[in-house]
Amino acid sequence: MNLSNIEASGHEMHALAAELYPLCRSITGDGVRSTMRRLAQDIPLEIHEIPSGTQVFDWTVPEEWNLKDAWIKAPDGRRVVDFANHNLHVVGYSIPVREKISLVELKSRLFSLPGQPDLIPYRTSYYKKTWGFCMAHHELERLPDGEYEVCIDSTLSNGSLTYGECVIPGATNEEVLISCHTCHPSLANDNLAGIAVGVALARQLASRPRRLSYRFLFAPATIGSITWLALNQAVISRIKHGLVITCAGDPGIVTYKKSREGNAIIDRAMRHVLKTGGAEHRLTAFHPYGYDERQYGSPGINLPVGCLMRSPHGTFPEYHTSADNPDFIKPECLADTLTKALEALEVLEHNARFVNLKPMCEPRLGNYGLYGDGGGQRTGEFDELALLWVLNQSDGSNDLLAIAERSGMPFRKILAAAVALERAELLRREHA
Ligand code: ZN
Repeated sequence: MNLSNIEASGHEMHALAAELYPLCRSITGDGVRSTMRRLAQDIPLEIHEIPSGTQVFDWTVPEEWNLKDAWIKAPDGRRVVDFANHNLHVVGYSIPVREKISLVELKSRLFSLPGQPDLIPYRTSYYKKTWGFCMAHHELERLPDGEYEVCIDSTLSNGSLTYGECVIPGATNEEVLISCHTCHPSLANDNLAGIAVGVALARQLASRPRRLSYRFLFAPATIGSITWLALNQAVISRIKHGLVITCAGDPGIVTYKKSREGNAIIDRAMRHVLKTGGAEHRLTAFHPYGYDERQYGSPGINLPVGCLMRSPHGTFPEYHTSADNPDFIKPECLADTLTKALEALEVLEHNARFVNLKPMCEPRLGNYGLYGDGGGQRTGEFDELALLWVLNQSDGSNDLLAIAERSGMPFRKILAAAVALERAELLRREHA
């Protein structure tokens, strides 16, 4: 992808996130359904509906939640909180309510952030039936005494859990899983940025030749990936690598959280791409918290799925607040995350092991058109040192990624050298 393409895709991803921002998503319901329909305009997305009550391992697909309207009226009749202004105002999965209550009772139902008094927090209560509102702390403090009227016009009923799946087949049925969560309402970095990068990745991959097949999953966190894994156990063994993409658009440095295995090919590929990229970055060990990498990395599933993000959840002040809005995510940061993911996937596509067919000392490269007459001069896209590294390390046990890691040279250079040596019949490709 050239530079102007990357820049354009950054703006496209940002526009998609901004377009999806107003929708009231949750783990089920019309907000996530509309989100999936919008993604289906850009990529070949199959939208699945899994009925409430479906047993998925130790979990059950919950009732579907939808919210029409919600507000709090002050004693003077003024709406002091209105869902129409911001969907973070309502605790996700709130049961319906319509009653008159005192300020003291109301306050027991209100969530705010005293340390960030201008921001609305994000709260949910999926599995405990309750209701509540979220609001800016400085507005909460200004509420006068008296009788309030509250209304949450929501429904919780048998329906379904909605997720989207997009398969982009390659020459083999070895799969790469890309997973993005879809269950947050108006929050930009924490869900929409990951979704936007996922969509852009799918579009990029669809336009390239592919050895691997790619499966994109856009599903609510936790219950969505658990549902997919429970219902697709026959597919799991095809997945050879995977990435959860989240918090993908903030201005922080790129973070890669390793898979449970810790040294899987995806872990080595991401580490290599980040190290040779030269920019500041963060590599963190696996831990069983965070996003859906914890489901993919549960012991019975045990897929090598890492997590690509910028600032990790909970580490930025905008996290789970109304400040995580489209202004917080940047086109150039989305584009940078996309580039890193594409570079790592390129390593997965082309990584291979080779055997040197002239292993008795160095072959005389000039005889194969790989050196200029004077010897030692660079030819084409590969350089002499890359040729020597590939020849030296290709005893059948080292893959190209290992050679790139050991030499400190970018994978692309090592790959170009291997391709030239294979063409010169100095290398034979080993099939894994
Ligand atoms: Zn979150």
